[in-house]
Amino acid sequence: MVPPVKHRLSERARAVVPSLIRDASRYCDELGALNLAQGLPDFAAPAFLKEAAQRAIAADRNQYCDPWGLAQLREAIAAKCARDNALAVDPATQVTVCCGATEGLNLALMALLDPGDEVVVFSPFYENYRPNLATVEAKPRYVPLSAPDWRVDEAVLERAFAGTAPRAVIVNNPANPTGKVWSRQELELVARYCERYDAYAITDEIYEYILYDGAEHISLAALAGMAERTVTVSGLSKTFCVTGWRLGYVIASEPLTAAIRRLHDFLTICAPAPMQHAAVAALEAPADYYADLRRLYQAKRDRLVTALYRSGFEPVRPAGAYYVWTDAGVLGAKNALEAAGRLAIEAGIAAVPGDCFLPPGHPNCNLRFCYAKSDQTLAAAVERLDRWSGHG
Ligand code: PMP
Repeated sequence: MVPPVKHRLSERARAVVPSLIRDASRYCDELGALNLAQGLPDFAAPAFLKEAAQRAIAADRNQYCDPWGLAQLREAIAAKCARDNALAVDPATQVTVCCGATEGLNLALMALLDPGDEVVVFSPFYENYRPNLATVEAKPRYVPLSAPDWRVDEAVLERAFAGTAPRAVIVNNPANPTGKVWSRQELELVARYCERYDAYAITDEIYEYILYDGAEHISLAALAGMAERTVTVSGLSKTFCVTGWRLGYVIASEPLTAAIRRLHDFLTICAPAPMQHAAVAALEAPADYYADLRRLYQAKRDRLVTALYRSGFEPVRPAGAYYVWTDAGVLGAKNALEAAGRLAIEAGIAAVPGDCFLPPGHPNCNLRFCYAKSDQTLAAAVERLDRWSGHG
């Protein structure tokens, strides 16, 4: 008899807990609940993009391409950075195309951090940051922000940089799950502290085009003195409704890019080649495309926020991204996990419990709803909420 394998998993693997967001999608399917949990649109990707991808596949652009990203795509990204982000970027030495902002973030962390390094994470934060830091054995230094505006002021940064200086700060602008859009003043404060304490900034700008009520997106790297110490991560998933294409990119100074490219090459070789051809078409979208995108999501936001208020929730109106963070006390649950369970069973709607966006063990009764959903799905969600709360 062959003895059973005694698994000895790495500490790194054991430090990573399963994603509550992806878990919520799974139980949602089992319960037949509406999925307002995971951040993925349930409507069609733009036709011009699908056609461009089909053309690339038919033309046999199906093999590995330049690991740094198709030259044409890197040029389109640099042009977009100059046009929309006030960033002067050399496509030959400062742009790396990778498999989603997810790979981009991991590359940034791998390139900049050693085990034990501390990284400022403003809380609530995007779920992935915690496991991503765990896999490079870096330590999050959680700095809480408060609703409704999640403002970052001098006192917040004093706390963030107190004691031994952190090695890096992660800024998520616009932010998931809060919808916070960082003001110039807040970014300038971050820049000042990064310079004073010689820290890097990693900025996750995946929602840069999803902004409401005239909010403006400012890239941290565009601030004076920040280009050299900032790694900017973004991608196509959210702006172009193609989360499954796995296309992202990292912008950094030349020496940082050299390190990021080495890591990327051995991690994934290259991002999906036919999708990169299509992405060139995406980045050439007319200005109307972006205005329509903002209008589309603003209408969806207003619809869901209004319905949540009516049902007794206390949502914080987001200024960007496509999530609503809300207090869920109305469900009468003892914590967020129970609240999410009750909402799924009683109302047939799945949302993500606040736990995965907060430091471990942080008691809360918050839920995150995603409204990147078709009008049909949102109408059904509103109806279910109204029926559940007795307003229907
Ligand atoms: N960053 C944030 C803040 C996100 O919300 C997400 C997606 N949920 C990502 C990164 C991942 O983006 P991508 O699909 O480009 O990997």
